[in-house]
Amino acid sequence: MSIRFTSEWQRCRVVFASGARTTLGAELDALSLGRALIVRSPGRSQFADEIAGTLDQRLAGVCALAAPHVPAECVAAALAETDRARADAIVAVGGGSAVGLAKAIALNRSLPIIALPTTYAGSEMTSVYGMTEDGKKRTGRDARVAPRLVIYDPDLTMSLPAGVSAASGMNAIAHAVEAMYAGNVSPIATAAAAEAIASLSRSLPRIVATPLDPDARALAMRGAHLAGIALELATMGLHHKICHVLGGSFGLPHAETHAVLLPHVVAFNAPAAPDAMARIAAALGTSDAAQGLRDLNASLQLPASLATLGFTASDVARAAELVTAATYPNPRLASASDIRDLLTAAL
Ligand code: NAD
Repeated sequence: MSIRFTSEWQRCRVVFASGARTTLGAELDALSLGRALIVRSPGRSQFADEIAGTLDQRLAGVCALAAPHVPAECVAAALAETDRARADAIVAVGGGSAVGLAKAIALNRSLPIIALPTTYAGSEMTSVYGMTEDGKKRTGRDARVAPRLVIYDPDLTMSLPAGVSAASGMNAIAHAVEAMYAGNVSPIATAAAAEAIASLSRSLPRIVATPLDPDARALAMRGAHLAGIALELATMGLHHKICHVLGGSFGLPHAETHAVLLPHVVAFNAPAAPDAMARIAAALGTSDAAQGLRDLNASLQLPASLATLGFTASDVARAAELVTAATYPNPRLASASDIRDLLTAAL
């Protein structure tokens, strides 16, 4: 077997420690960045306020406009706030929604992003951005949106409810799973993906049982970091494409949709990617990847069907049509009827 791969790296400083959020000012100094605009979701003021307080004179403002799937109207309003604030950097405090809005700002204003993640979405490690306009989610890659600095402070995830933690962690596992069978996978992506799946599949059940377990929180965040690296270094396939359609066009919740669909897509792809499936199963500590993911979902008490997330039988045909119209890499070719069957099974 000949080994061939290409990989490209974005320059990113990562600081990972309990309490690391207090280093933000010093880290900004080290990067010669002055005034920072904090970006967060509307309901999530707790940590953002604390972090804003540590910035003192360097706080350029707080933009609390982040929303799931980065709606275009939020981006327009956030750009107006950014222009008013005259910031040198965007500091995203929150989950994938806050990081996503920071990325949309960076894409339009070429400002560096500092991310302090509070979920396991993993967006902070990638140059992938997404935006939703007219009911369609558009994604792309651009070096300008890759955060320049990521401060991982597991204490920031302590308040993340058990159910949200579990779903967010399954979203991270989905990045790692699809990286395993990506056509452009590189050794570092495979290694990161295996470590991500192992860290998350062991920590998430502990978090659901004991949400304030600091070691489990740190292990899950380590897994999310590694899953984000895998996502950055590999191109995502059928699973992510379906999730984007269900989130962008049908308003389904992002992380839970990932959790419900993943075992179905893995079962569909299994015959075409036996080596990747063996690596996923090994990382899960099981013998069958799809069954291992199904069992993990059940142990995390996550929703087991798309119906519980608001998807209906009458949505299946249009969703399958939208997925089929998109281009994406995948180890197994999926026809419109395959996707309809898969969605119906997940329903
Ligand atoms: P999110 O940011 O919307 O957070 C989920 C929920 O958790 C929200 O209600 C939020 O207010 C709450 N929350 C966040 N942190 C909390 C905390 N510490 N305590 C209590 N509540 C908290 O969603 P998400 O799942 O983090 O991210 C999903 C979004 O990220 C999607 O839009 C997805 O497309 C995007 N994403 C992008 C990438 C990428 O590389 N571009 C990767 C993964 C996900």
